[in-house]
Order: sequence, then C-alpha cells, then structure tokens
Amino acid sequence: MHPQDAFGNPDFSFQDMKIAIFVDGCFWHACPHCNRPLPETNIDYWSRKIQRNVERDKFVTRELINKGWRVIRIWEHQLKQRSDLQKIGELLNRTFYSQETAFEFQLPED
Ligand SMILES: [Zn+2]
Repeated sequence: MHPQDAFGNPDFSFQDMKIAIFVDGCFWHACPHCNRPLPETNIDYWSRKIQRNVERDKFVTRELINKGWRVIRIWEHQLKQRSDLQKIGELLNRTFYSQETAFEFQLPED
C-alpha cells in the first residue's frame, strides 16, 4: 500500500479493490461544515491556494472515477470521536463488499 500507486495521492488506497480514501483537512479543502476563516493577512494568497485545492480535489475524484475507482472522502472534523471511527468502519465495510464501482462517497454528517 503505497500512496504513490494511486492517482491523486489518496491518504489510503487499496489498489486491487480500486478504493481510494481521502481525509480532507477542513481548512485546506474548504469544508462547508467548519467554514474556517482565512488568515487576516494575505487573503488573496490563501483564497487562491484553497480554491486550487478544491479544484484539484474535484479533478482527482473525476479521474479516479473514470478509471473505475471508488472514492471515499472524509473530512478531518469527522475524525474526532470514537463514534466517527465506527461510522467510517461501517462505510469501508460497505464499500469493500459493494459490487458497485466508480463512485464517490462523502461520509455524511450526523
Ligand atoms: Zn470540517
């Protein structure tokens, strides 16, 4: 399991099952739930940088789906509690045994 094996450098990937898992930082990937404010200096710089990340996320997801991968995206803030880990475990379990390919799944909010 080497991150460089899968397109877009997912945080975890299962090459043989074509499953890619991304844990997106709430600030860096513009999480709508957390809506983190930008630093007060260099706002242009930060907003461009984060916008580029968001566009790259969409591009990577599209490319992976085109290649038949199943893409799971989890927000950083969804990894704070034990109950979150259980939710993620269930989601992974469903994904591993799913016959479906080429989809994106975002871990839902509570
Ligand atoms: Zn968040």
